[in-house]
Amino acid sequence: LLLCIVALLEFSTSCHRGHEEARQSRGKGPVKIGLSLDSLQLERWQHDRDAFVAKASQLGAEVFIQSANGVDAVQIRQCENLLTMGVDVLVIVPHNGEVMASAVRSAEAQGVPVISYDRLIRDSNVSLYVSFDNKLIGELQAKYLYARAPAGNYILIGGSPTDNNAHLIREGQMQVLSPAIKRGDIRIIADQWAKDWLPSEALRHTENALTQANNHVAAVVTSNDSTAGGAIQALGEQGLAGRVLVSGQDTDLAAAQRVVEGTQSMTVYKPIKPLAENAAAAAVALARGEKVQSNSNVNNGAKEVPSILLAPIVVDRTNIDSTVIKDGFLKREDIYKNV
Ligand code: BGC
Repeated sequence: LLLCIVALLEFSTSCHRGHEEARQSRGKGPVKIGLSLDSLQLERWQHDRDAFVAKASQLGAEVFIQSANGVDAVQIRQCENLLTMGVDVLVIVPHNGEVMASAVRSAEAQGVPVISYDRLIRDSNVSLYVSFDNKLIGELQAKYLYARAPAGNYILIGGSPTDNNAHLIREGQMQVLSPAIKRGDIRIIADQWAKDWLPSEALRHTENALTQANNHVAAVVTSNDSTAGGAIQALGEQGLAGRVLVSGQDTDLAAAQRVVEGTQSMTVYKPIKPLAENAAAAAVALARGEKVQSNSNVNNGAKEVPSILLAPIVVDRTNIDSTVIKDGFLKREDIYKNV
């Protein structure tokens, strides 16, 4: 017992020393930003990272990046490490919006502001939320599908249940679909969530739903492009790719190719550069103790979080040139490579 107490005391003294050193190094020299990412596996997060670092460097800040590969304990540890290194501000894309509240508490205890990036961290004192309007993304997806399939069987595949965005998107989708369901125009034959937004999860859910409905399906409401990819693979196995409407989000290159090929009906384009640039500028301002302009508030269960919410854009094959390609987000020759 004595040994344990001594070990604990030593641990807490060394933590204290770590915090003390971190505190002393804060506010000196260039602004130090800790960027904690859930994962870099999906294409979009690489765009986010690159645009964020470019803007932060332009503003004279240093960025320290950590990616947790979707493991909560790793992400918490990485945030603790960033704090110990003495970052002036933390920018977090949480894998789990509830679990990461503990990282916000650690930051708060050390006087370090936290920006919740793209996904909201719940029940905590985050300083700022920077994202797209996720409820609107869900509305846009459902509106697009419902306008083209006003009757029939629908499959719903939400994103990761640990991601607050997945719930906001579903809320937006249901706002559009609920009246049609009540009227009996459309019927929900499967209502599922894809763990970690995995294509394999969407594939499995779509396969099961198609079997149950004897392939009589009008639309698959998937919430992003990775899950759309899984659903389209399942449709392809039944010779239905291109004959059943499918929604998406992100404009990943593979999804943009499916849109022009006709197997994915639409995607929601979210210009990542302004998102990342807003977040980087806000991080530098918060680190310097300056005020940041927001355009809305979003409740995270603990407070109304000042938020910068940007507008998402519906993209299908009719406007991909004038949006995604015109912005230089993706190249024309890459998107049309297979058509
Ligand atoms: C993001 C989407 C992304 C998904 C999976 C969501 O929180 O808003 O853009 O596709 O996570 O990474």
